[in-house]
Amino acid sequence: MPIYKAPVEDVSFLLNDVFQIDRYDNLPGFSDAPADVREAILGEAAKLSEEVLQPLNRVGDLEGCTRHDDGRVTTPKGFKEAFKQVAEGGWLGLSVPTEYGGQGLPGALTQAVNEFQCSANMAFAMYGGLTMGATAALMVHGKPEQKSMFVPKMVAGEWTGTMNLTEPQCGTDLGLLRTKAVKQADGSYKISGTKIFISAGEHDLAENIIHLVLARIEGAPSGIKGVSLFVVPKVLVNADGSLGQRNGVSCGSIEHKMGIHANSTCVMNYDSATGWLIGEENKGMQGMFVMMNEARLGVAVQGLAQSEVAYQNAVAYARERLQGRALSGVKAPDKPADPIIVHPDVRRTLLTIRAFNEAARAMVVWTALKGDVAHRSSDPKDRQAADDHMGLMTPVMKSMLTDAGFANAVQAQQMYGGHGYIAEHGMEQFVRDARIAMIYEGANGVQALDLVGRKLPRDGGRAAMSFFGEVAGFAKEHGADEAMKPYVAPLSAALGHLQQATTWLMQNALTRPDNAGAAASDYLHLFGLVTLAYMWARMVKVARDKIASAGATPYLTSKLVTGRFFMERMLPETSVHLARIQTGCATTMELAADAF
Ligand SMILES: Cc1cc2nc3c(=O)[nH]c(=O)nc-3n(C[C@H](O)[C@H](O)[C@H](O)COP(=O)(O)OP(=O)(O)OC[C@H]3O[C@@H](n4cnc5c(N)ncnc54)[C@H](O)[C@@H]3O)c2cc1C
Repeated sequence: MPIYKAPVEDVSFLLNDVFQIDRYDNLPGFSDAPADVREAILGEAAKLSEEVLQPLNRVGDLEGCTRHDDGRVTTPKGFKEAFKQVAEGGWLGLSVPTEYGGQGLPGALTQAVNEFQCSANMAFAMYGGLTMGATAALMVHGKPEQKSMFVPKMVAGEWTGTMNLTEPQCGTDLGLLRTKAVKQADGSYKISGTKIFISAGEHDLAENIIHLVLARIEGAPSGIKGVSLFVVPKVLVNADGSLGQRNGVSCGSIEHKMGIHANSTCVMNYDSATGWLIGEENKGMQGMFVMMNEARLGVAVQGLAQSEVAYQNAVAYARERLQGRALSGVKAPDKPADPIIVHPDVRRTLLTIRAFNEAARAMVVWTALKGDVAHRSSDPKDRQAADDHMGLMTPVMKSMLTDAGFANAVQAQQMYGGHGYIAEHGMEQFVRDARIAMIYEGANGVQALDLVGRKLPRDGGRAAMSFFGEVAGFAKEHGADEAMKPYVAPLSAALGHLQQATTWLMQNALTRPDNAGAAASDYLHLFGLVTLAYMWARMVKVARDKIASAGATPYLTSKLVTGRFFMERMLPETSVHLARIQTGCATTMELAADAF
């Protein structure tokens, strides 16, 4: 049975010390979460994840979801009760404005809680995660009556939400979608078509499911410019808020898939279902982008979460599993062999995962705080800077954290040898569950194109220039400090690689766009490595200051060591990415399609 302990101390270090959340007290909702309240929330979230959600992870994987002949879908044993507990505990609405029944607390807290829940049970956490993505889109683009009708019930967990984009012939290229919307005399629309791969499309956790659906209004332009967004409830809602008739939407089947078995992945059939427009006609992507950006950060957290839980189990196993003797001499003479954690290659593997997890968690908290500023600050300049950061970092985090999340789950599985491959220890489930995060919410290769093609050049490169300036400023401020040199010097070198890669793209991508396409994934990973390194440098600076003022603790000392490991053993990959980028697209594009 896998173990899981929520990393509360690490989250508190990030919130309290590294990013000093108390500095944001002028933002609405922040003063309601002083240190003691945050500690209590994180403690309770940890308990819920460790004691309620984690024990259901294996049950969910084995049992999966079941579709019945009448189209109903039931979730695995225990899920209904656990969802009720999550909903009644107010966890879904932690950061939703109080006017919609939420608690209005910082989004950074919500992301920390998300990590705990996804580590404990990713398939379960998706039901709530999608609901919150749908409420975000409704809150930004919904009409007042749509907001008041749907959002409070969704925040309370009485109803859940979904996002319906994908169709058999259209995934990445949503301009190909065929689902049709026909305007009715009363202003509503009749929606017809088939959506596939819809997460949480049908289940038994809530009495209603609010589908956000992309469709093309009759006569609208072809391509992405003719796509609109609709809200389509599973059960129609009467004017007084009570539930009325069943709408014309049903689950045709559920997918049998590699992982996240406990999350129902549904084919959804819309058969003249009644829906209402969200936002303006033909501007559906604007509303959907709110949901997708929310969901992309959520998916990034899934990558980190699987990496973290896999790491914790791998460490526990490596401490116990006895094989061979340490190269430097016997370490456990009373035992027939040493625990495998003595072997350098095992330690290399574990540290690689750990050094990623801690910096990735910092990246999540940092970006979530920027999200809070972007949504809540009264200063337009602060809002714009935070929004720039979010735009730039969303594709980086989605891809970097999920690529590493999967790779790390595999590495953690490797620590178990053959025992990782069999189901008993749960390691293969982490690998299977982590895999989807690289695919959905925009496949990772497409995220890289978004970074290079859209986010980087946007507003004359303002967001990237601001990030480069911030990192360079940190390096300048702390570069002369002898103790910080092992961190700052590699960070500066890596930033130099990123700047060279950016210049290369500026000089070579416009004349030949395939140069940008062939460079995109390397560029994204180079960007991600520099960001993780910056997170490490900031964490180390704070850890050193705390050690100087209050003395060393094992937690703080390990930050210094793990940070050095990152700089020495992981960051040098930036030069490989730069070298690949600078070769251009020639060999990538040379072979004709039929020569592959
Ligand atoms: C378990 C599961 C849950 C899902 N949940 C949902 C959901 O809730 N709602 C929903 O709407 N969808 C959902 N999806 C669908 C998912 O978002 C899509 O599968 C994904 O966006 C990719 O689309 P596709 O499968 O059609 O692949 P395609 O778009 O056909 O892409 C295939 C490959 O080609 C690459 N590619 C495509 N276009 C380009 C390009 N222009 N440049 C470079 N590379 C390109 C992609 O990176 C990918 O590797 C889910 C899928 C799964 C498997």
